Amino acid sequence: MDVQKTIIEPHGGKLINRELTGIDRKEYLEKCKSLSSLNISRWIISDMEMISNGGFSPLIGFIGEKDYQSVLKYMHLANGLPWTLPVTLPVTKADAKSINVGDEVALYSFEGELSGVIQVEEMFEYDKQEEARLVYKTIDSNHPGVKKLFEQGDIYIAGPIFLVNRPSHKPFEEFYMSPNETRKMFTDLGWSTVVGFQTRNPVHRAHEFLQKTALETVDGLLLNPLVGETKKDDIPADIRMESYQILLKYYYPLDRVRLAIYTAAMRYAGPREAVFHALVRKNYGCTHFIVGRDHAGVGNYYGTYDAQEIFSQFDPMKIGIKPLFFEHSFYCGKCMNMASLKTCPHSADDRFILSGTKVREMLHEGITPPPEFTRPEVAEVLIKGMKQKGEG
Ligand code: ADP
Repeated sequence: MDVQKTIIEPHGGKLINRELTGIDRKEYLEKCKSLSSLNISRWIISDMEMISNGGFSPLIGFIGEKDYQSVLKYMHLANGLPWTLPVTLPVTKADAKSINVGDEVALYSFEGELSGVIQVEEMFEYDKQEEARLVYKTIDSNHPGVKKLFEQGDIYIAGPIFLVNRPSHKPFEEFYMSPNETRKMFTDLGWSTVVGFQTRNPVHRAHEFLQKTALETVDGLLLNPLVGETKKDDIPADIRMESYQILLKYYYPLDRVRLAIYTAAMRYAGPREAVFHALVRKNYGCTHFIVGRDHAGVGNYYGTYDAQEIFSQFDPMKIGIKPLFFEHSFYCGKCMNMASLKTCPHSADDRFILSGTKVREMLHEGITPPPEFTRPEVAEVLIKGMKQKGEG
């Protein structure tokens, strides 16, 4: 059965596949030995995978200058499709000297593992300040995305890629699914509407409230936590993954939820990343996507609802996936329920609101956050995990 026809179309109409297998892969494994080579970061390796498995459809490689300028200025690819973040391959000027347009270049991790190949079609200089200003809305190098941008090489090399070796997903191998696999799974489950949920945090009561409210109207939930690169003080992915499993076991209808990892890096680009996250989840087969308060934000760089307002700048038909917007949600002692600014008439004193930083501090100190904020079973996993890592 052609899975793609049964559920939402991928972005651009076709699910991209740039992963080499069988004889083609063997050929490239041999060929790479004689190609010029480059070392690429963990972030770029995860982008290689996302391009090759179709998560970043319609991209078939790292974008060239025309698309780059169009994404920065208009939040669309040059062909008119919405696309909000530049997916680029930066190299230093020194590395660029050994590369020519027309070359095939083998890409290796810094540990020496072959990732894949880029067919170089373009090399161009770019303006880091402008990229920071347009993508992150700040040039403050304390912003984790801006910091990365300022530290990276000054030249972008662009062109189609092929993945030769999938990166390891250890210890989450069993939770890795390609967009093709999630699409097939949704079809097999008989889900025609699926809500995607992005998170880089443990799932707290507010997240649970959002997900379950959405589940009242759609067939299934894809809990799709990001396990790619995050900033140092975020809770490590392995601890989070354990906490998700415990939460699902005790509090979710298991026939209506699936847990799969999202392997891309976190950009912390707030509103632009919210649209990006939605488009990628469309490629995974989701029809709906949750965008709450300050989605993909960090510090105070973005307004609380910027990540929702940005969607009004796009043609909903071109976005395809339907964003589900949620107001700031919390447990209210007077309502004796989860609620949001839309539904709770009580005062701030009645609400259990804890910042991410405050929760991390509590967990580090071994203090269990109140059950109105976090399920006790989840808090237990988090505190134990932090202790084992010597972070508690
Ligand atoms: P991210 O950094 O990718 O936004 P989070 O784990 O912080 O990841 O948030 C996951 C999702 O939940 C986002 O859509 C975010 O806007 C939403 N969210 C988180 N906390 C709340 C809350 N208290 N009220 C409403 N939405 C929330």
